[in-house]
Amino acid sequence: MSHQAIYRKYRPKTFDEVVGQDHVTETLKNQIMRDSTAHAYLFSGIRGTGKTSTAKIFARAVNCTNNTDGNPCNECETCLSILSERNMDVIEMDAASNNSVEDIRDLREKVKFLPSQSRFKVYIIDEVHMLSKGAFNALLKTLEEPPEHLLFILATTEPQKIPATILSRCQRFDLKRISVGDMMSAMKEICDDIGIEAEENALRMIANSSEGALRDALSILDRCLVYSVDKITYEDVVTLLGTVNYNTIIRFTDILIEKDIKELLTVLDEILSQGKEITLFLEGLIEHLRNLLILKSVEDGQSFVNTGEDAIKLMKGQSMKVSVDDNIRYIEELSETLALCKRAVNSRILLETSLIKLLSTKTAAAVETVYIERPVVETQPKDTVNEPPAKRNTDHGAGDEAAASQSVLVEEPVVLSGDDAEILKQVQENWGLILQTVKKQRISLNAIVKESQPYRVVKGEVILRFAEQYTFHLNRANAKESIAFMEQVFKNILKKDLKVRFIIEDSKKKESDEEIRKKINEKAFELFGKDKVKIID
Ligand SMILES: [Zn+2]
Repeated sequence: MSHQAIYRKYRPKTFDEVVGQDHVTETLKNQIMRDSTAHAYLFSGIRGTGKTSTAKIFARAVNCTNNTDGNPCNECETCLSILSERNMDVIEMDAASNNSVEDIRDLREKVKFLPSQSRFKVYIIDEVHMLSKGAFNALLKTLEEPPEHLLFILATTEPQKIPATILSRCQRFDLKRISVGDMMSAMKEICDDIGIEAEENALRMIANSSEGALRDALSILDRCLVYSVDKITYEDVVTLLGTVNYNTIIRFTDILIEKDIKELLTVLDEILSQGKEITLFLEGLIEHLRNLLILKSVEDGQSFVNTGEDAIKLMKGQSMKVSVDDNIRYIEELSETLALCKRAVNSRILLETSLIKLLSTKTAAAVETVYIERPVVETQPKDTVNEPPAKRNTDHGAGDEAAASQSVLVEEPVVLSGDDAEILKQVQENWGLILQTVKKQRISLNAIVKESQPYRVVKGEVILRFAEQYTFHLNRANAKESIAFMEQVFKNILKKDLKVRFIIEDSKKKESDEEIRKKINEKAFELFGKDKVKIID
């Protein structure tokens, strides 16, 4: 017996068998029972969610001579002829290969004829967004005045590419991504039917990696069946998908939290020497960190985490060991690394660098504090200000030595003019937007720039400052092309021609904790009155 793909063999034959799309199938059943179907439907949704299956069921259901509850009986002559593709009145077209005006003109000629053996002539046009503009226009003419006996079912993964004129003539149904739970039960039923055991974790892993597309899940299940003898195990699925075992991810995360860089690189080496893909490993790791974050910061967060109870317990324990700030930093940094790794030749170096960076920098919160605690002095009247000469080093590609001297230059006390203070305020207010724009266009530059903060504006030159541990970012940030790019971004967002320069924080000038505390106390006294403030150490 030749092997038939599971997703074909177990393709749903009634609306009730369609997985996870009750909001669509119930409405269609009702329309059929009330005999109130429309002439054109659009089914949209990502691949593998049941668009074509639902369309085929619908084509039988409207023509079934034995229909009692909205479902096709699949036994009457009409149902059987459609199921065996002998029925001339149900026509399936793939718009990808029949997308010319001629194809649709041909179709328009044919739709005029009455159905030969059924009540409705049904056209199922798959991937309808692939039609040419001319073909859409030709189709529109038919949809404008459809003959009584005609039913169009259009299916697409990209509804946004369909002209509004067509959309407005269709009843639209959006098929959802299928939930992990629904996919797991569907796979369990199939395994029971075939008579093979499957570990729950194995099915969950398959469902999780299919991103809502049941067809993808069933293809993986198919491959597992070839691979597994009498039982589908979690390890089988891990091997098949090339992903990294969950226990390894837990262990890796533990080491990440302990900030043991040597051990981290050792485990990474083990993982890679097993031939695992870095990107798949990173995806698994990021998903895990995301789960920890949710379990820690959302009350009853389990419902957002697709995993079994044992794993939830493990995760909750682990989430207690990592701060929310650190975790967010890990997720952000690793997500950027993942994006870079997908394009890089040597992604291992990228990941190693990123891990070292993660574990060797201060927390983001600490960097912010340094920035906030050193406010810039602002004065209002522009003319009375005595501005010190802030020489500009035009060679942005200068080495560390030059960088150090640059930083010293602007670390001299600077009093801002009214205009500069206003610009600084605008830069600070738009900083998030500026970073987003950089990220969209130059993700690698964003990885650097986001570590800096708007610091000062001197005579129309915006000075962005890195904390001292980011010395290695300075050259790259001050490279001519980076600066030109940043200046363009500032111009686009702030509508001003501004110069941009990066500097590094001068630690020698940093205020001691004692001084900062003193300042905070003074501010508190000023705000609330000395008698109302009690200092507790
Ligand atoms: Zn029937």
